[in-house]
Amino acid sequence: MRCAIVHYHELALKGRNREYFEERLVRNIQWTLKDLGVRRVENLRSRIRVVLPDQVTDQAIKERLTRVFGIANFSLAHGLPLDLAKPDLETLSKAVIDSLRSESFSTFRVSAKRADKRLTLTSMEVARDVGAAICEGTGKKVSLKNPDLTVYLELLSKEVYYAIEKIQGPGGMPVGVSGKVACLISGGIDSPVAAYRMMKRGCRALFVHFSGRPLVSRASEEKVRELVQLLTIHQYRSKLYVIPFGEIQRDIVANAPAPFRVVLYRRIMIRIAQELAKREGCWGLVTGDSLGQVASQTPENLTVIEEAAELPILRPLIGMDKVEITDQAEQIGSFAISIEPDQDCCSLFTPPHPSTRTRLDDIQKVERMFDVSALVKQGLDKVELSEFTFPG
Ligand code: ATP
Ligand code: MG
Repeated sequence: MRCAIVHYHELALKGRNREYFEERLVRNIQWTLKDLGVRRVENLRSRIRVVLPDQVTDQAIKERLTRVFGIANFSLAHGLPLDLAKPDLETLSKAVIDSLRSESFSTFRVSAKRADKRLTLTSMEVARDVGAAICEGTGKKVSLKNPDLTVYLELLSKEVYYAIEKIQGPGGMPVGVSGKVACLISGGIDSPVAAYRMMKRGCRALFVHFSGRPLVSRASEEKVRELVQLLTIHQYRSKLYVIPFGEIQRDIVANAPAPFRVVLYRRIMIRIAQELAKREGCWGLVTGDSLGQVASQTPENLTVIEEAAELPILRPLIGMDKVEITDQAEQIGSFAISIEPDQDCCSLFTPPHPSTRTRLDDIQKVERMFDVSALVKQGLDKVELSEFTFPG
């Protein structure tokens, strides 16, 4: 039987949390492999077994599983029945030797793990016996320190699995175990990375984008769609709300002192996003702010923007610099999309000297000149919803 054996980090997973984590991970693996005809994904105490149909290639499985948050590592393995009282190492060794015929290597080692202590042999004894048989069967040498190839054996209660490769997963926690958050996504470099990091901590992301429409083209929206499609690989279904924000901005520009514009835009954005977040059962808002990066991200301005929110504002990039964020964006594949030219709504009517130390009472005074709740309602009335799925 050909399978993927999936491992996750168990540290700090206790009681009910552990069950919840495992159930989620099993379900997420089912989702991501659904279109490949994979039907059996089973939880076998501290490992997950995915039974692979013949037609699915190793490559396809690797591509999918390396993107499932919560997976520490996995191997593509073959399984044989195991009798704990009378383990048949001869048949196992023969099967391993057969599977090594197509591999080129001079040295190897065997790494064995037993999950069930009722097995009459220790892991060391199994590794030694199978190692000796491989030496005899292939003429290759053992090297414990620096082998060309490692044979991994996993001895479970009813089966033993053998594999020659361990593939790193992304780590983190299964999407869904940490609730839902609303991510403000701009089409720039930072906000997709911020969303990614929250998803990796187990959050399901809802996406909210403010477009400069009707005053600018849909370019930023197209980018955001591409970014959401990319991020959906990690959570299988996504919702994106787009709010045409140009007219609201025009109102702000006509009525507020220029230095306050950006903070005012942001406070209205937060209020609109928060309404959508509440409707969708999100517990927090996520932004790609990084301390001091631009005028809206000074300590004073972040504080004044925060004041407009009732839900917590999560800023996973707050302590990262642009180089670190860019590296991450490249790793996750969002960078190339983010740098396509567009016109973000925040660049509309940007004043030459934005206030960097906005005081809350000044902003509140300015906001009293507007009907803020009418602006929020205007945004919510025009919101457009799109849905994304993966696999497509
Ligand atoms: P990025 O746009 O990638 O976040 P940035 O340096 O351009 O980086 P800002 O424009 O200052 O950052 O925006 C800070 C944060 O505010 C963004 O990370 C995003 O979460 C939110 N934001 C800004 N503009 C928009 C927008 N048009 N739609 C939704 N969210 C936005
Ligand atoms: Mg931006």
